[in-house]
Amino acid sequence: MSQTLARIAVFAPLRRLFDYLVPAQAQPGMRVRLPFGRSQRLGVIVQLLEQTDQPSAKLKPIEALLDETPLLSAEDLAFLGWTASYYQHPLGEVLAAALPALLRSGQAVPEPGISGWRLTAAGQALEPVQLQRAPRQQQVIALLQGCGPAGLPQAELFAQLGTCGGVLASLAEKQLIERHRLAPGEGQRPILPGPELNAEQQQAVTQILAGEGFHPCLLDGITGSGKTEVYLAASRALIDRGAQVLVLVPEIALTPQTTRRFAQRLGLEPLVLHSALNDRERALAWHQASRGEAALVLGTRSAIFTPLPRLGLIIVDEEHDLSFKQQEGFRYSARDLALVRASRAACAVVLGSATPSLESLHNSQQRRFQLLRLNQRPGAAQSPRLQLVDIRSAPLQAGLSAALLDALQRELAEGNQVLLFLNRRGYAPVLICHDCGWIAHCQHCDARLTLHRGDQRLSCHHCGHLRRIPTSCPECQGSRLLSHGVGTEQLEELLQARFGDYSSVRIDRDSTRRKGSLQHKLDGVREGRHQILIGTQMLAKGHDFPEVTLVAMVDVDQGLFGADFRATERMAQLITQVAGRAGRAERPGRVLIQTRQPDHPLLLQLPPFSHQALLRVDARDSREAETFAQQALELGQTQAAPAIEFWGPAPAAMERRAGRHRQQLLLQSASRPALQAFLGPWLSRLEQLKPPAGLRWSIDVDPQEML
Ligand code: ADP
Ligand code: ZN
Ligand code: ZN
Repeated sequence: MSQTLARIAVFAPLRRLFDYLVPAQAQPGMRVRLPFGRSQRLGVIVQLLEQTDQPSAKLKPIEALLDETPLLSAEDLAFLGWTASYYQHPLGEVLAAALPALLRSGQAVPEPGISGWRLTAAGQALEPVQLQRAPRQQQVIALLQGCGPAGLPQAELFAQLGTCGGVLASLAEKQLIERHRLAPGEGQRPILPGPELNAEQQQAVTQILAGEGFHPCLLDGITGSGKTEVYLAASRALIDRGAQVLVLVPEIALTPQTTRRFAQRLGLEPLVLHSALNDRERALAWHQASRGEAALVLGTRSAIFTPLPRLGLIIVDEEHDLSFKQQEGFRYSARDLALVRASRAACAVVLGSATPSLESLHNSQQRRFQLLRLNQRPGAAQSPRLQLVDIRSAPLQAGLSAALLDALQRELAEGNQVLLFLNRRGYAPVLICHDCGWIAHCQHCDARLTLHRGDQRLSCHHCGHLRRIPTSCPECQGSRLLSHGVGTEQLEELLQARFGDYSSVRIDRDSTRRKGSLQHKLDGVREGRHQILIGTQMLAKGHDFPEVTLVAMVDVDQGLFGADFRATERMAQLITQVAGRAGRAERPGRVLIQTRQPDHPLLLQLPPFSHQALLRVDARDSREAETFAQQALELGQTQAAPAIEFWGPAPAAMERRAGRHRQQLLLQSASRPALQAFLGPWLSRLEQLKPPAGLRWSIDVDPQEML
């Protein structure tokens, strides 16, 4: 059998490629199983070679070629290769991450389509009366004769006629019907017309569709300004031209409602990549997209890696959302990759946001992006009015000022809904001894334990550590343990006591742990079963409450003193988003913000930083982490180009987390290429250091958080 040479990215955390002998029919983009050290691994062929510098005696043949046709195209490999080198992550791991689990584990591509049945020519010609003696068979034929030539999914037949496998088998035996695999979405659905676009929306759609080639746009409009209508209109036009559209949404926004809106308005079944898919469904969806069959793919972060041969538009909704950044393992920003991908595919990309990230605003000011604004709210809806409530030296009840309580009372009396936003779950963030000042801390983190009354526990919100609430002080045995500060649980308690005539509902991670409970609560609010809505960040995105007329931000001050440079930015975004939940109907919303910092320059004047990369090191022993970070610095300095600045190493803002000591070294450069050129060789040298067992390190290019 004739063999040839191939370079292979092995699914392993190694920053190099390996050469093997492969069968002659092998092509780049196919998966292989190969002997590796003493075990076996999987990998993907990235290149066929004429020759290798490896001595031929050491060259081994692969064990098996797993695909008959390439799973990844040349363009997919090039894009993923670019991604691996930009984020300084081993190519094998990047390819593995881009494949659905089933394919990553070496299994065969599942057979596409949905199992279904259609009529044969004989079946089409048949008069159902000819089957009079077999009424069930007659029903099946009648149903199939009443639909299009693609037939019906088996599940649909079962749904209409009850399970009828035997009936189908008899009809197939008579050669009246035959098995047929339907592509999902095959068979048209009706298109529901949308509202007529206003002038700004129309203008935005025209701009997105105008011109050829790479075309980045920033669609800047508050929640409810009609951005989704713009996405829908632009998608419709491109799908009609035969293109594929990729829509990325934040994790929390990928709800059945979102999917339904796209399905109804585009008249097609969007391919949805969500976490509830099983491995087989996910692999099928992926494969279908990669064969150019799905017109619209909707997914969260990792959907950015879906192969799309006819890609014509990428939409990133709520582009500032943190969930677009993968924070662990292979760290990447799906938003940034959307730009790279659109540029490679020479197509349009729309970043939509009510609160554009600093980078995006910077880019549009530099005219790298086209800025599209939606200033009007459609219909009669008006923007909410923002108002600061200065609470310096004001007496507070569970964190609420008299002014705020008063406003709540008035809104409720008028039959309106109110929303209280407090980004701190639990009953109270601190448990303190009144006699000696002891404070309950986490044993594993530099963090205080939060008091949860409902669970009767102290809980660490950073590592999940749980403890019983002590009955006396562990230091002085005193019995006066007091809680300090306010969390959502306490806020709910006060509001129930104070406004007992109204129903309140709390939405945070604790109150929505059970499956389906979030949806149930949200439905309750929309259906008007609750008047008082209390929630954390979970409420800030993707949910609309048109009947809410008053939004109260109970405590924004915590966000103004965050440990990293984005904390203030994020608080400003949060305020805009939470405010955007309200007042979409005829009644304008009002937003009250309680603060002790009424003069704080919330307005964002920070320029986007220069280009950064963050080395994170953690170990059980603080000296080990320090030593490694120091070595990394020294290696960097001996190699450094003058364009790179080093900051640190220094302990992370939370030095200890889950029992591990954390150090970080920040690298900064005004030039992105200089930083990139530096990182590759530096990381290769770090890999050769032999750190003590248990020490972990990682690199985060374009870090979002320095915590
Ligand atoms: P966003 O995506 O910016 O939050 P949406 O596109 O969801 O905004 O629009 C908010 C609401 O306004 C939706 O109910 C939508 O159907 C409606 N809407 C959007 N554009 C128009 C329009 N031009 N005329 C009337 N209603 C509109
Ligand atoms: Zn004490
Ligand atoms: Zn902890």
